[in-house]
Amino acid sequence: MERRALNLCVYCGSNEAVPRGYLDLADEVGAGLAARGWNLVWGGSAAAMMGAVARSARRAGARTIGVIPRGLVELERADPQADELIVVDNMRQRKAEMDDRADAFLALPGGLGTCEELFEVWTSRYLGMHAKPVVVLDPDDHWDGLLRWVRELRSRGFASDAAVDSLIVTRSVDAALDACVTR
Ligand code: AMP
Repeated sequence: MERRALNLCVYCGSNEAVPRGYLDLADEVGAGLAARGWNLVWGGSAAAMMGAVARSARRAGARTIGVIPRGLVELERADPQADELIVVDNMRQRKAEMDDRADAFLALPGGLGTCEELFEVWTSRYLGMHAKPVVVLDPDDHWDGLLRWVRELRSRGFASDAAVDSLIVTRSVDAALDACVTR
């Protein structure tokens, strides 16, 4: 039987104000996942890093599946080129739909929304609610402050080793994509 292509859910920043290097990183991730024959599941926006990852994934042959709440279709510029664009009623449905469709989760540098999405899949993983890899790609210490605080939570007894270690932190695009098929 032929195996279904992996669906990789990518979370990343939606803000246009970020330095160009972050758009290039998103571009590289899109091309990299497509080169592995994978599909992209993302927030359905054509803006900023979110748009960059989807455009480059499509350009390199990946199928792109966007999930966006109705109320953000204008604000986040829903991507008319998405192979599938799922318009849902609210954020909770967006996350549920993305979770259901994904085989692994990869967070790139991002803002508050990216943090929120990452924490939900990370906490649900260590609680045993799913066993899909949860990976961070952090080439430039974007996430370092947060990760230091999480390690501090561990040393104060608020977080277990297993919980903290269930997040895979990587430095390069290749390492991040490799990690999406481990554990
Ligand atoms: P940001 O990292 O703030 O640029 O946001 C990245 C993406 O996360 C955007 O598409 C936001 O709409 C989305 N986002 C923000 N808050 C949430 C949330 N509570 N649940 C799901 N997605 C969110």
